[in-house]
Amino acid sequence: MINDTILHKGMRKRLVEEIASKGISDPQVLKAIGKIPRHLFMESSFVKFAYQDKAFPIGAGQTISQPYTVAFQTQLLQVKQHSKILEIGTGSGYQAAVLIEMGAQVYTIERQRELFLKTQQFLPQLGYHPRFFFGDGYKGLPTYGPFDGIVITAGAPFIPEDLKMQLKIGGRMVIPVGQGDHQIMTLIERKAENSFEETTFGNFAFVPLLKGTN
Ligand code: SAH
Repeated sequence: MINDTILHKGMRKRLVEEIASKGISDPQVLKAIGKIPRHLFMESSFVKFAYQDKAFPIGAGQTISQPYTVAFQTQLLQVKQHSKILEIGTGSGYQAAVLIEMGAQVYTIERQRELFLKTQQFLPQLGYHPRFFFGDGYKGLPTYGPFDGIVITAGAPFIPEDLKMQLKIGGRMVIPVGQGDHQIMTLIERKAENSFEETTFGNFAFVPLLKGTN
């Protein structure tokens, strides 16, 4: 892999131990985080920041999510081989890479053109090939659904109805809900055509889910 050394691997191993100690137990999630060279997803690969369990700026006023947060959302999705997953908020592409490592077929939407173009060019260089879409994630991808899982990686002021309707029966949506400086991680399971179950999992901090494109 491009510029991935024994040093990076060692730091990643410690990062995996750290998020495991914080409660992430899905072995597939831990394996994916242990494999993906997070330092390559950052502006100027600040190695020592890349393997801290922290969010980091990626340009255009956006962030690469904290590894623990990525792991937490991914674990809640219960990804299986060939799961069809929709991600809202491509950003750096790191979350998409985690999903692909776990065997998912990934569709990802970004509303910031600059980031969309950058990540669409970058991610395939690492061998990760999601389907990239430029647009407003509030609407989802009605023509490509329904999905086994939908993950929203920005703070949503409310749960978008369009996204709920793009879940398969038995599908799971993981969405941080709330405005301001924190959101409540929420799992929505579609139990039947018109039956949805909601479970909450405490506070997280995300950049806001915005309307329209930029
Ligand atoms: N999953 C990303 C996290 C990036 S932060 C990663 O792993 O790096 C959240 C991203 O959501 C930002 O890039 C932001 O531009 C994008 N975003 C915000 N509102 C959106 C919307 N309505 N549709 C699509 N993307 C959106």
